Amino acid sequence: MPDRGACTVIVGCQWGDEGKGKIVDVLAEDVDIVARYQGGANAGHTVTIGENEFILHQIPSGILHQGKRCLLGNGVVLDVQQFFQEYDALLERGINLEGRVGVSLRAQLLLPYHRVLDRVSEEHATEKIGTTGKGIGPAYGDKVGRRGVRVADLSNPERLQQRVSEAQERVQARISQIGAGSAHELEKTIKDALDLGERLLELGTDTGPEIMGALNEGRKVLLEGAQGTALDLDHGTYPFVTSSNTTAAAAATGTGIGPTSIDSVIGVVKAYTTRVGEGPLPTALNPEMDEHMRELGGEFGATTGRPRRCGWFDSVITRFAAQVNGLTGLAVTKLDVLDTLPELQLATAYRLPDGSVTATFPADTWSLSGIEPLYETLPGWQASTGEARRLEDLPPNARAYLDRIEELTGAPVEWVSVGTRRRQIIPVG
Ligand code: GDP
Repeated sequence: MPDRGACTVIVGCQWGDEGKGKIVDVLAEDVDIVARYQGGANAGHTVTIGENEFILHQIPSGILHQGKRCLLGNGVVLDVQQFFQEYDALLERGINLEGRVGVSLRAQLLLPYHRVLDRVSEEHATEKIGTTGKGIGPAYGDKVGRRGVRVADLSNPERLQQRVSEAQERVQARISQIGAGSAHELEKTIKDALDLGERLLELGTDTGPEIMGALNEGRKVLLEGAQGTALDLDHGTYPFVTSSNTTAAAAATGTGIGPTSIDSVIGVVKAYTTRVGEGPLPTALNPEMDEHMRELGGEFGATTGRPRRCGWFDSVITRFAAQVNGLTGLAVTKLDVLDTLPELQLATAYRLPDGSVTATFPADTWSLSGIEPLYETLPGWQASTGEARRLEDLPPNARAYLDRIEELTGAPVEWVSVGTRRRQIIPVG
């Protein structure tokens, strides 16, 4: 197994849904703590264990390994109702959670009014972002606007009440302003959410000192990102992005450790590309091939069930991801999805509308819809890879494809995933 050092970040390097849940699940076996550093219930990791499929939105998928401690860092926006639904569902399925889940006292609460705002804003937007409607954007908006409510506030009922009442007034004013009717039932759902406050406080922790303490004692930590690099608030295809920094540096700010405590950063990439929601996808397939790939890869969102658009592997975006995340290694997932295709294309550069060619990811999102990807064609392998457990077990053309991904991205392939199951993984090196 590749030695990654004590503190590893796992980050998506495309538009999310790269299969991070599976990679975290595999790597979690070897660590003591798994911590989420950003995002909220808009993330959806799917992990298959035996015949059971677990979809986790907020609790790190490390929870499916006995004895691992799972943390939600200060960088997340925590939907308390959804959190306890997930928590209780795990308990019902026999997972022992005693002392295993910790929530940063600095994490922001995502409350029912954020969901209401998210939906009405998207419904009334002239340009839709394609949000999941889970309230993530408004919750981060309140955080940045310094109006948010944090887990620690739950211990002070007066302050909590004041901040929540102010928020409620603001939301109601906004809803009547855009003529979206009244936010009926809001009061009750807010109360239901806050009733869970005491239970949440029992899980409260200070994630920075907890993680540093573990590292200082020689234990191992995995910091788990949600969504992907192209959805990063600063570095992604703005404004078609999520409302937080998804990239590896956010693993430090989002948990409360310093960047020098991070030893390695594994970038997760699908062997092709997908995107859900609005916004450009430069290597998008033609409609017929798009549908074929979606069926082959089961490309429907874990959170919303929305069909994902599919594209060829885009090394412009993964090279950019290698740079912005400081990748030390790659985990390539879903290689098996390509098993039947006679040939594969890899985008190596973009031709811009003015005719110039660039190998770097353009800052101007709008220019992406006018670009033409420049492709290299590689032969497919047309053989099953699902049973491969060592690199040598893969067909030569599959190895050549991985070699080319590595060369074009500029980071070594350390893991290859060839199926949904835990054992369908190839450690490289
Ligand atoms: P995440 O948010 O990055 O964890 O990605 P998702 O869980 O939304 O999507 C990944 C999907 O691909 C899940 O249904 C996984 O079970 C599945 N998956 C992960 N790795 C592989 C793989 O190597 N092969 C196949 N066929 N499916 C995979």
